[in-house]
Amino acid sequence: MLGPSTVLVTGGAGFIGSHTAVELLDHGHEVVIVDDYSNSSPGAVERIAKVAGRPPAAAYEADLLDRRALTEVFDNHSFDAVVHFAAKKAVGESVRLPVEYYDINVGGTTALLRAMREHEVHRLVFSSSCSIYGDTTKVPLTEGDPARPTNPYATTKWLCERILTDVCRYVPELSVLALRYFNPVGAHPSGLLGEVPNGVPNNVMPYLAQVADGRLDRLQVFGDDYPTPDGTGVRDYVHVMDVAEGHRMALEHLDDKPGMSVFNIGTGRGTSVLELVSAFSHAAGTPIPYEITGRRPGDVAELIADATAVARAWGWTTSRDLAAMVEDAWRFQQMNPAGYPN
Ligand code: UDP
Repeated sequence: MLGPSTVLVTGGAGFIGSHTAVELLDHGHEVVIVDDYSNSSPGAVERIAKVAGRPPAAAYEADLLDRRALTEVFDNHSFDAVVHFAAKKAVGESVRLPVEYYDINVGGTTALLRAMREHEVHRLVFSSSCSIYGDTTKVPLTEGDPARPTNPYATTKWLCERILTDVCRYVPELSVLALRYFNPVGAHPSGLLGEVPNGVPNNVMPYLAQVADGRLDRLQVFGDDYPTPDGTGVRDYVHVMDVAEGHRMALEHLDDKPGMSVFNIGTGRGTSVLELVSAFSHAAGTPIPYEITGRRPGDVAELIADATAVARAWGWTTSRDLAAMVEDAWRFQQMNPAGYPN
């Protein structure tokens, strides 16, 4: 079990990154953040310090593809491990901007691996995604199920996993844990930390929150003709605090075995878009207007995790249900209607 560590968190100002930074600080680890603030803001770093009661050791505004800047970060600290979140993450956007997705997600990961290698850092927790399973009807999904990505975003995550698996074969001292999370949502229960996308949200939960408080007119429900009970897409929503705990546990288990391991991070329960709308409107105490529109390119019907492997490996299970997810997301929206102050 890895003890107190100095951890580089790439994308540490982002949604999952900021919650993970707090979880790491709460458990005695030192955190250094690198973020280009392309879909986040420095305000998140201030909130991390406020929630954790102490600040990260440092926060750098840098793009992983800026080799000189990344080298400087590694020169300034002695990292025990890296938790790598920095990436683009919107399915719809990836269909429009595939080259940007390959450049930032795959190129960013190889740039990071290069810096790790040059500075003899051998431990990595990688942010992967259930979207790699893609075109499947199997429910629930285990780590051994085949990857069939259906959009550039998912393909970048799959390619990164392949690269990491291959690099681990040739660099025996490297240990990598890739976490395939299903749909992280919710917020820190304090209401101080949450999901703050720049511009109009791409993901359903922050979009719903902005419809509930009147900033956006209505949710577009992308398709009601999927082979699911109510025809809308089913996902395994998982509370971001459970996901953050998963990353902290992953970090502490990196030395369990060398090489690459992969774990699903989800609840094992599916929720349709309409069920999510209903749960959110219950939490917000207001009806949420929505309209059914066509399917979103690259989307699939249903993705639900079998997360028993990670439960067996480290005892990680979820402890927060859908009601907590929507309540916490709504509290954050109400307390921070315009996101973090800059
Ligand atoms: N979705 C929707 N309207 C939106 C955004 C998303 O109906 O404005 C649906 C989407 O088709 C999928 C689910 O909500 O079935 C979750 O989408 P999201 O983008 O949040 O995450 P993804 O599963 O694509 O990673």
